[in-house]
Amino acid sequence: MASYDYDLFVIGAGSGGVRAARTAAATGVKVAVAEDRYLGGTCVNVGCVPKKLYSYAAHFHDAFEDSSGFGWTIPQAPSFDWATLRDNKIEEIKRLNGIYNRLLEGAGVTLINGRAKVVDAHAVEVNGERITAEKILVAVGGWPWTPEFEGNEYTVNSNQVFDLDEFPKRFLVLGGGYIAVEFASIFNGLGAEAHLVYRGALFLRGFDHEVREFTRDEMAKKGVNLHFETNIERIRKVEGGLEVTLTNGEQLEVDAVLAATGRRPHLEGLGLDTLGVELNTDNTIRVNERYESSVPSILALGDVIGGPELTPVALAEAMHLVQHHYGDKTPGPLDYQNIATAVFCHPNIGTVGLSEEEARERFGAVRIYSADFRPMKHTLSGSDERCLMKLVVDDASDRVVGAHMVGDEAGETIQGIAIAVRAQLTKTDFDATVGIHPTAAEEFVTMRSLTRR
Ligand code: NDP
Repeated sequence: MASYDYDLFVIGAGSGGVRAARTAAATGVKVAVAEDRYLGGTCVNVGCVPKKLYSYAAHFHDAFEDSSGFGWTIPQAPSFDWATLRDNKIEEIKRLNGIYNRLLEGAGVTLINGRAKVVDAHAVEVNGERITAEKILVAVGGWPWTPEFEGNEYTVNSNQVFDLDEFPKRFLVLGGGYIAVEFASIFNGLGAEAHLVYRGALFLRGFDHEVREFTRDEMAKKGVNLHFETNIERIRKVEGGLEVTLTNGEQLEVDAVLAATGRRPHLEGLGLDTLGVELNTDNTIRVNERYESSVPSILALGDVIGGPELTPVALAEAMHLVQHHYGDKTPGPLDYQNIATAVFCHPNIGTVGLSEEEARERFGAVRIYSADFRPMKHTLSGSDERCLMKLVVDDASDRVVGAHMVGDEAGETIQGIAIAVRAQLTKTDFDATVGIHPTAAEEFVTMRSLTRR
C-alpha cells in the first residue's frame, strides 16, 4: 500500500476548507492545509463578515433620523469617519484570523503558508516542496470578475472596496446581484451619493418578482440612484474623480466604481487542467455526491464547484465530504433544496424556498398570502420604510413552499421560518401557530386572507 505524507491535503483555508480540515482531523486522519492569502477566506476577510459590520455602520444613519420621534435630540449633526470603521474592521478580522489559526492548530492540522499546485493525482507542490497525500481537496473558492470596457482598470472589486484609502463621497456600483445591492445600500447609508447601474430591467434576477420590485422601491426611497437597462460604456479619470459614461448616454462623476459583476472559480495556476479534472460549462469543478472530481483522489467543495455561493453551503458540504470519506456511516446526498438566504441591502431581504413564479411553474395552482405594512417602529419615527412578508402555498398539498420578507432583520426572521418550510409544514400549521406580539414576524402566522391565487 502506498504511503503518503498526509491522508488529506486541503488547498484553501476558507470556510469550507477549514471546516473539512478540522472535521477530518478529528476523525484521526493526518491533514495539512495550504493557504497563500488569509485564513477564513472570502467570508471572513472580504465578504460576509466585514460586509455585515459595514451594514451595521450604515444602519446608524436611519437610527439617528428615526430617534427624534422617540424624544431624542442629537446635539450636533452626526458625522461619519471612514478610517475609524475601516481600521476597527481590520482589527476585528485580525482577531478572527487568529481564531482560525488556533482552531486549525488545536485540531492538529498542519498549516502551510503558500499557494499549492496539484502536480499529480496524489501530490502537490508548495513553496518548491513536493508533498504527497492520499486525497487532495480543492477548496480555493472564487475571485471577483470585471467585464471588459474602456477604463475598467479604474474600478475596484469586492476584495478591495473594504479598504479604500478615502471614503468615496460619490459611489457607483455595477451589477444587480447580492454584492451590488448590498454595497449601494451601505455607501448610501454611510452618507455617499450612491448609484447602482444594472443591465437588466430589474435587479436581483432569480428572486421573487414582488420582492425585487419592493426592494427597488424601498432602496430608491432611501436615496439610492438606480440606473436600470444600461451598462458602463467607459470610465475616464478626470480632475477630482472618475467620469462614467453609461451605454444610455448618461454621464456621472463619482469617486469610486465597484464592479460587482459576479465571481469565478479561482483555478488559475492550480494545475488541474494538466490532470484532466473535468469542469462544468461555467468552469466550476464537476463533482459527484461524494465531492470527488473526475480524478477520484481530487475532491472539491464550496464556490469552486458552483451551486449557491454561500458560506453555510460550503460548511455543509465540508461536513458531508468528511462523513463520506472518513465517517463511520455514509450520508445521503446533501439536500440543496430550501436553502435560506439573506441579502443585506437596506431594508434586508430574507428568503427561503420557491419564488411565486417558480411555484406557479412547478405546481400550477398556488395561493399567495402577503402583507405590505408600515412597521410599528415607524409610527413614531416618521420613516416611510415599509415591510413586505409573503407566503407561497402549493394549493393542492397546502404546503408552504416559499417564504419571503423585505424588512428589518429579515434574515433573522426567515432563519426560523426556513425550518418550517424545510419540514414541509402546511399553511394550516402556520395558522395554528400562536404569534409573538408585538413583532413584525407574527405576520407570518396571522396572514389569514388570501392575496391572490
Ligand atoms: P451575482 O452573480 O449575484 O451578480 C452578478 C451581477 O452582475 C448580476 O446582476 C449580473 O447581471 C451582472 N453582470 C454579469 N456580467 C455582467 C456584465 N458583463 N456587464 C454588466 N453586468 C454584469 O454576483 P455578485 O458579484 O453580486 O456576488 C457573488 C456571489 O456571492 C453571489 O451570487 C452570492 O452567492 C454570494 N454573496 C452572498 C451574499 C449573501 O449571502 N448575503 C452577499 C454577497 C455575495 P444578470 O443578472 O443580468 O446576469
